[in-house]
Amino acid sequence: MSENKPGKVTLEKLVSLCQRRGFIFPSSDIYGGLSGCWDYGPVGVELKRNIKETWWRNNVRERDDIVGLETSILMNSKVWETSGHIKSFSDPLVDCKSCHQRWKADDLTENKCPACGGELTEERMFNTMFKTFVGPVEEEAAVVYLRPETAQGMFVNFANILNTSRKRLPFGIAQQGKSFRNEITTGNFIFRSREFEQMEIEFFVKQGTDEKWFEYWVNERLNWYIKLGVKKDHLRLEQHPKEKLAHYARACTDVAYQFPHGWAELEGIANRTDYDLKVHSAASGKSMEYFEDETKEHFIPYIIEPSAGVDRAMLAIMCDAYDEEPDKDEIRVVFHFHPDIAPIKVAILPLSRKENLATFAKDVYTTLRPCFTTQYDDSQSIGRRYRRQDELGTPYCVTLDFQSLEDNMVTIRERDSMNQIRVPIATLKSILLAKLAGEDFLVLPEGGKKVEKEEK
Ligand code: ATP
Repeated sequence: MSENKPGKVTLEKLVSLCQRRGFIFPSSDIYGGLSGCWDYGPVGVELKRNIKETWWRNNVRERDDIVGLETSILMNSKVWETSGHIKSFSDPLVDCKSCHQRWKADDLTENKCPACGGELTEERMFNTMFKTFVGPVEEEAAVVYLRPETAQGMFVNFANILNTSRKRLPFGIAQQGKSFRNEITTGNFIFRSREFEQMEIEFFVKQGTDEKWFEYWVNERLNWYIKLGVKKDHLRLEQHPKEKLAHYARACTDVAYQFPHGWAELEGIANRTDYDLKVHSAASGKSMEYFEDETKEHFIPYIIEPSAGVDRAMLAIMCDAYDEEPDKDEIRVVFHFHPDIAPIKVAILPLSRKENLATFAKDVYTTLRPCFTTQYDDSQSIGRRYRRQDELGTPYCVTLDFQSLEDNMVTIRERDSMNQIRVPIATLKSILLAKLAGEDFLVLPEGGKKVEKEEK
């Protein structure tokens, strides 16, 4: 039964599981979708929020030197004129003269159409910013753009933040939010889409300390993925050669991940020098200078920018969490998500729908809900319910049986080892908190005991 042998993760398997279990759907699905756009379902939205919240907690709440910001998606078009996006945020586009498919010239290895082998047109530059209009009249004066990155909102707020937060260098601004790019070709699931979400930090430093801070952020960001369960072997740093750097950048290193379609950028860390603040200061006439009390110097800070994509982070995390294990004659599919980002932390599974047990189980559910994202499931066999929770990546299942009504004990089953322990209900909340925080599963509370492992 070759199809019942555990195998490696592929994009096809992920897409199908994501759709089946409510992680991700094609956008406008009932109308045939919209290419490069995706909808995050009930479980996907929890996973995505948890990734964003972990990033926010680690980079904003747990640090003294970074503050948060949320700027609008639509901005004065002068921002994009000054940043150079209107002139040069473009990709080289070629058309196939036979089948008329469009390609990004950078992606092609040969000078012929990858779909039909036809002859290609000359390259022409295609601006990937989405244009729209402010106000009711579609006139040129009212053109605005959907932002293609969140960074510019932070640059143009530099003085506001400096004056209100009273931060001293080095310090950073962090922002998460939607960005839009009219990519010539999209694909590889949520890896490249036209509407996506970014998590960016602009870290302001004094020139001369920029190289040290650049190294610091490259390591910091690489380790962040490892802490969230991305495998070290699937990550590597790719330094951009000097001749390929954007004209304003002094250095750029990508954190690349080995996606099922190959190695590709997960996040970019750039040393953007003082370019951004300088150009915005010159174009707006507003000072972007920093005054250093100790030296009495005025200067424009350098910027180190770690720029990550939420959707790409989620894809990498899903790829490495995905596992297939032999399970009797079948395969157990499981997402080994880190507890911090698992979409559902605890499932409450009563062994029967009988009223007395259901009332009891609902009580436990109500007690746990304020503390954890909890799911109540009383349909189908317990084995099926475990498999369903495995596919959602739920770290702990709590089962209640008729014995529970007598002895006030419940069984907790761990997703990864499938070990089971039986614990007094009074201790359940604190035990789950401890286990989710990393305590060894077989450490028992007073009155607790190990029970027979679920049979594989
Ligand atoms: P690529 O070379 O893959 O197009 P990029 O170098 O243009 O990426 P940046 O401008 O550095 O990307 O954007 C920072 C991050 O935003 C990327 O590392 C990626 O995680 C995310 N990102 C950029 N474009 C997209 C997209 N079209 N879909 C999903 N995520 C994206």
